[in-house]
Amino acid sequence: RAVTDGLTVWAEVDLSALEHNVRTLRALAPRSQFMAVVKADAYGHGLVPVARAAVRAGAEWLGVAQLGEAVALREAGLTTRLLTWLSVPGTDFAAALSRDIDVAASAPWVLDEIAAAARATGRTARVHLKVDTGLGRGGAYGADWGALVRHARPLEVEGAIAVVGIWTHFALADSPEHPTVLAQQERFFEAVAEAEREGCRPEVRHLANSAATLVHPSAHADLVRPGIAMYGLSPVPQIDDDFGLRPVMSLRARLALVKRIPAGQGVSYGHAYVPDVDTTVGLVPAGYADGVPRNATNVGPLRVGDLRTTIAGRVCMDQFVVDLGPESGAEAGDVVTLFGSGPGEPTAQDWADATDTISYEIVTRVGARVPRLHL
Ligand code: PLP
Repeated sequence: RAVTDGLTVWAEVDLSALEHNVRTLRALAPRSQFMAVVKADAYGHGLVPVARAAVRAGAEWLGVAQLGEAVALREAGLTTRLLTWLSVPGTDFAAALSRDIDVAASAPWVLDEIAAAARATGRTARVHLKVDTGLGRGGAYGADWGALVRHARPLEVEGAIAVVGIWTHFALADSPEHPTVLAQQERFFEAVAEAEREGCRPEVRHLANSAATLVHPSAHADLVRPGIAMYGLSPVPQIDDDFGLRPVMSLRARLALVKRIPAGQGVSYGHAYVPDVDTTVGLVPAGYADGVPRNATNVGPLRVGDLRTTIAGRVCMDQFVVDLGPESGAEAGDVVTLFGSGPGEPTAQDWADATDTISYEIVTRVGARVPRLHL
């Protein structure tokens, strides 16, 4: 019995491809440490197995958005340096400090909450101060940066915190020629210099996401933080270069039913697809609850045997239909590939192109009920 026998829909996660990608990215930034970004269940690939594989391939750091994700990594036994970067008032920083999790701060009140947790636990919090160099999202902007640094210093002197990192994030690193890339980089190094003049001595200055790791070596600094490229997907799909990366996830399903329908019989809700000849259709047991975008109706690319085709009609919550053609010999149980990396298979990027989104969303939205098979 094969592992996928009886499974309706599943995601194969090729951890050897992930390790290859980590090594490939590390070789591009040989003087920088490597933070494997494993937030959002490792972009849908499975938090703990991916984190372990990244560490095996040499990642010195793990990065996540939410404290709960960081705690899950520690509870799974990972002892790698670990940064979590989103918090709200009331975040349980003591839970971070007691597990040796580094935390981030973009505003003085965050530092105050971190320092209070440090005093309560008797630990020194390792903090990465975030500067907004022009993304216009997290981080301290403009004059607020100096104020953040000046707020941090007495807390450092007290021993409640240690500023171990200074970091920022790009707005347009995926547009290599865009002037904001260099402008953000320059602003970043000015912000670091300002913090150093105030007495901060960060171990790691970091700003490079996947795109910057691949195409902006001047942004590598002390540590790179790639996400999407580690999963073998390009952050710059407009550049015709795969950088030697290998896609990690393949999403597959088995036909649950094969049957004949006559010309003119509308297919699925709304009859958004109507075959003009008598044909054979297959029922694919995967729907928007599994992460198949509903706007993939009539456009989501598929491979069934040698047939390269698209979804026929509307994507439902748990299923959709494929028109296998009048002469099809397909049978229930045959494998349908939504995306993969084999010859002739659609890719996650093809899905992104067909549904007007980015490959990040395609893999990250794969539903919680879809088993991840780590191969
Ligand atoms: N660093 C931060 C702060 C992020 O939020 C992300 C993801 O969005 C990354 C790094 C990794 O970005 P990418 O997946 O584009 O490499």
